[in-house]
Order: sequence, then structure tokens, then C-alpha cells
Amino acid sequence: MSEKSTRNGWFQGSEIHCCSPTSSRSRSYRLILLGPPGVGKGTQAQLLSEKLRACHLSTGDLFRSAACQSDLSPALEAALSAMRRGELVSDELVMSMIRERQHCLHCQGGFLLDGVPRTICQAKALDELLHELDVDLDAVISYELPLEQIVDRLGGRRTCSGCKAVYHLKSNPPKAVGVCDQCGGELICRDDDRPEAITVRMKAYDAATRPLNDHYANQGRLLKISADGSPLEILQRTLDALGGIVLNRRARERV
Ligand code: AMP
Repeated sequence: MSEKSTRNGWFQGSEIHCCSPTSSRSRSYRLILLGPPGVGKGTQAQLLSEKLRACHLSTGDLFRSAACQSDLSPALEAALSAMRRGELVSDELVMSMIRERQHCLHCQGGFLLDGVPRTICQAKALDELLHELDVDLDAVISYELPLEQIVDRLGGRRTCSGCKAVYHLKSNPPKAVGVCDQCGGELICRDDDRPEAITVRMKAYDAATRPLNDHYANQGRLLKISADGSPLEILQRTLDALGGIVLNRRARERV
């Protein structure tokens, strides 16, 4: 079994060949990552999935990988054109794609949901699905960063057209310009990272996604983490906060 999760089950919607190594892990985490576009959520998801060996389930990656396929359904075509404009894809389509992949929520290594839920409607549908599957969420991590830093991060972000690894021209550059360190693929500026799409995405975030913080705070699951600093500093902050969750849970279990 490879050391790195392949996420094939997530991309293909099938239960086969999804490789998430479990051997050396003492526990698995089931997490949702929240935060505005550009906050570094995708980078943290990548780092956390390596550290915790949890499967990185990104709906953005799912749609981008669908964009490379031929023979798309009309619903998926509509979703991709909404995505290119920086708009949100419909709740119905997002949730039907998650339901098709619900086996990923049972992944033994745990999961990091990145990019979903993005609306209260998706959050409620996901609550129901997790309840049906008898899967308990450990925490919802909300990354926080001031707007001017967000704009700077998005402008320099480059994504591998092959394996979807994320780089930044300043803070996390690839070894060779324009080439992915991991798979040698071409690094591109995503359509939705162009300035006109960024404005639309930030408005969509404020209107639709920011209210999720209250939804999960009310469930006692929200962990707010500052996304200031280097990717490794933010990772450490996240791991420290997750360590606190485990300690709190053990203390509650002892009572
Ligand atoms: P991301 O990579 O998470 O920033 O997602 C890129 C784009 O995919 C978004 O701007 C949306 O158009 C679309 N998308 C991804 N996840 C969702 C979701 N849960 N709900 C609606 N649209 C989504």
C-alpha cells in the first residue's frame, strides 16, 4: 500500500483503489475545514492529511477533476460553468456528489472535508448524512485571516494541473518555476483565482459560508485558528488545538 492517499474513491465515486494508510496512526480524525478562499485551507488540508493520514476530500478538486472529463451530464456542465464564474455550485448537486461518495466518510484513516459544506443548507444535509452513517465529527476548524492578506495569497497561488497540489509564488514556491515538485505537472493559475472571480467568491463566502461558524459553534465543534504565518506554523497551531480536543475528550470520558 502506498504511503500517500490516492483519493481515487473520491475522484471516481467508486469504493475501489482508495488508498489511505492506517498502520502507524494511533487515532483517526474526522474534520471539516472552513475559511474564506485564499486563507490557505487547501495547503493545510494537504499538510494535515500527510500528518494525520486522513483522506483529503475537497469538493473543489472534485469539480476540477470532472472538468477534465468528456461526456459530462448537463447538471455537471452547469456546475462547472458556475465554478468558472466564481459562483457556488447548487446545493443539490454538491450533496448528491457527496452522497455518491459517502463511503469516503467511513474512511478508516478519517477525513478532512475541504470546501464542503459551504452553505447552511449543505451543513444541515451533511449533519443528517453523518447521523445516518453514525459518523461523529471531531471538530470544525475555521481558519481566520484579514482580507488584505487573503488577496495577496490568492494572487500568487498556483495549482498543479495534474495532482492538484497547491503552491504559492512567495510562501511555498515549487523547486522549478511552473513545474509541480510532486508529479512534474504544469502549475496553473486557476480560472477562479483570477481577480474578477475572486471578488465574486469573497461575496459568496460572506453571504453563504460565514454563517456556518455559528452553526458549528452552537454544536460545540468550532475551533478558530489564526491562518497568519507560514504553512508549517499554521499546521502546528492546528495540531496543538486538535491535541487539546483529544485531551478534553479523554477528561470527559473519565468523568
Ligand atoms: P475550492 O477549491 O474549494 O475553492 O472550490 C472551487 C469552486 O468549486 C468554488 O468557487 C465553487 O464554484 C465550487 N465549489 C466547491 N465546493 C463547493 C460547495 N460545497 N458548494 C458550492 N460550490 C462549491
